[in-house]
Amino acid sequence: MRMYDLIRKKRDGGELSQAEIVFMIAGYVDGEIPDYQMAAMLMAIYLNGMTKEETSIMTNQVTHSGDVVDLSAIEGVKVDKHSTGGVGDKTTLIIGPIVASCGVKVAKMSGRGLGHTGGTVDKLESIKGFESTLSKEEFIDIVNRVGIAVIGQSKNLAPADKKLYALRDVTATVESIPLIAVSIMGKKLAAGNDSILLDIKVGSGAFMKKFEDAAELASTMVSIGEQAGKRTAALITDMDIPLGCAIGNSLEIIEAVDTLNGNGPADLTSLCIELSANMLYLAGKGSLDACSEMAKDSLSSKRALTCFIDMVEAQGGDSSLIKDVSTFQKAPYCFSVKSPGTGYITHMNSEKCGTASSLLGAGRLTKDSVIDYLAGIILTKKIGDKVMKGEEIARLYASDSTLFDEAAKVYLDAVTLGKHVEKRPLIFARIDSSGIEMYK
Ligand code: URA
Repeated sequence: MRMYDLIRKKRDGGELSQAEIVFMIAGYVDGEIPDYQMAAMLMAIYLNGMTKEETSIMTNQVTHSGDVVDLSAIEGVKVDKHSTGGVGDKTTLIIGPIVASCGVKVAKMSGRGLGHTGGTVDKLESIKGFESTLSKEEFIDIVNRVGIAVIGQSKNLAPADKKLYALRDVTATVESIPLIAVSIMGKKLAAGNDSILLDIKVGSGAFMKKFEDAAELASTMVSIGEQAGKRTAALITDMDIPLGCAIGNSLEIIEAVDTLNGNGPADLTSLCIELSANMLYLAGKGSLDACSEMAKDSLSSKRALTCFIDMVEAQGGDSSLIKDVSTFQKAPYCFSVKSPGTGYITHMNSEKCGTASSLLGAGRLTKDSVIDYLAGIILTKKIGDKVMKGEEIARLYASDSTLFDEAAKVYLDAVTLGKHVEKRPLIFARIDSSGIEMYK
């Protein structure tokens, strides 16, 4: 078999066989297929797509290119959740403890932030002492005792994806629905959980800007999960504006704890209830309505908060910060962004809000950047709010006051003022093996 022939076949709209995909991924991981040939193949896939069958086979190859985590030593059903990424998305910190406190195990491997999006592991590491690298034995022991542990991805998880993603990143082939599905599901299937809930983001801060593309990505990923024998469902949720009011690592931990205390922003709280209900449903805890009641009860009784505190302690973090978030260290500098005019906030571009936060030091501009846990933004006004000229619309936090000028410019550029606010739903649809259900 020759890679040249496979590239030509895909370039001309053909379908690759199982043997061809196995040859291609194994050869690329081994270094026998060079980057320039794989780059040509990725562009051919980007332009011509892949069938469901090809996507499934390629995912399986990516999953088995490294370790497949064995979670069988954890008692009960293990449910995973994956968000396609966004700005202010701290849901894992809230729904993980909700679900675990309802008796479903959460053995979660999470990512770090890159570009304008944040990552759960960075947020957790803003808690003094929190350890996101655990041995397999420690990880399993904590999940069995506490119900939840969150760690970074192990080094040898889906190494084919690491190599492919790095190549996609520099060849303008990231935004391909089948390649995104292969990349995410390749890792999720290697993480060893029984069921998977996908939170597919749509809007200005998401990979998928249009609902139709998000729905296609969701149904491709659900079908890959189901074919691999995992109960899988997806919610399509809004990332046109940031989620909640906090962007930045320790600021997001504080907002997550406020939410676990019942004082979180309405959008974040209701999305977390819906995601938790879906995870509990996938774990066989009852109807979606019953699971939603279970999730609400876990929040109002503070069982989820207790579970989060237990997880932080078990992973070496200073839980006194969680018990009293006012003790979190604050950034030394704060800058108040004022509204340039009078009117209603009619749009907030998520990607630009995330970029402003990154410029303050909260995000990574490259994979090796060091992040500032204290930096970020509090949105004091959000979409739909009426603002007067000169009124504060956001507070920027940084450890270096020279960063404010550029970040404030980018933030102001993210915010649109106008007369008429169009209400967008927070959750657009739910997709599982039986099809799509649109939310009202
Ligand atoms: N996240 C991933 O892990 N892979 C992609 O391709 C896109 C988002």
